[in-house]
Amino acid sequence: MTSLNPVHTVGQQMDEVLRLHTDLDAEARRSACVEMLESVGISRAANRLSAYPHQFSGGMRQRVVIAIAMLARPRLIIADEPTTALDVTIQSQILKLMRRQIADKGASMILITHDLAVVSEMADHITVLYCGKVVERGRTRDLIEAPAHPYTRGLIDSIPDPANRHARLKQIPGTVPDIRNLPKGCNFRDRCPRAQALCAETEPDLRPQNAAQWAACHYPLQPGDSA
Ligand code: SF4
Repeated sequence: MTSLNPVHTVGQQMDEVLRLHTDLDAEARRSACVEMLESVGISRAANRLSAYPHQFSGGMRQRVVIAIAMLARPRLIIADEPTTALDVTIQSQILKLMRRQIADKGASMILITHDLAVVSEMADHITVLYCGKVVERGRTRDLIEAPAHPYTRGLIDSIPDPANRHARLKQIPGTVPDIRNLPKGCNFRDRCPRAQALCAETEPDLRPQNAAQWAACHYPLQPGDSA
């Protein structure tokens, strides 16, 4: 929403990417912009290049930003909370669009988000951070179905269950410690239902749990454990 410059047209902002990153002439750049706008689902793309961001809806602006990100055919896209401000319908459209664009253009993406539902739909691999440190990583399906770190378990349990609408929402108790003054031992210990004496003494290293999953925990969950 705020990535686009309100005083330049959408076309100017798209063109800038190609001017800086390619040797295309003006005509070829314009064709590439029209083609990319169409590929992200914006109709009458040739006319819309001369429009300003305020003439687009929120979902369309999001599409324009994705188009700008894809224009120079990057091999890696870093998307930081790309759908946070969008309603669920637009969010779903944008996620499908990003997935298709990545597959079509042969790019990879690092998706940064707090939304595990989005991650489980989009990512092949997940890395979970707590207090700026990796506490678990692995293949998406393994990690969602059998998390080894209690923080990952807590995040998964916090996702509202639509089949159980009247149940109390689960949450991870407590708050994140001040990262300027982290406690000794495991950073998660004050919130962890599995904490023991060792957790207050030594910070756990990231260790393999199986061939494709790592967790930084002295007492990791085993498949089938609930907490
Ligand atoms: S090391 Fe201890 S406190 Fe930290 S997550 Fe594991 S069990 Fe919990």
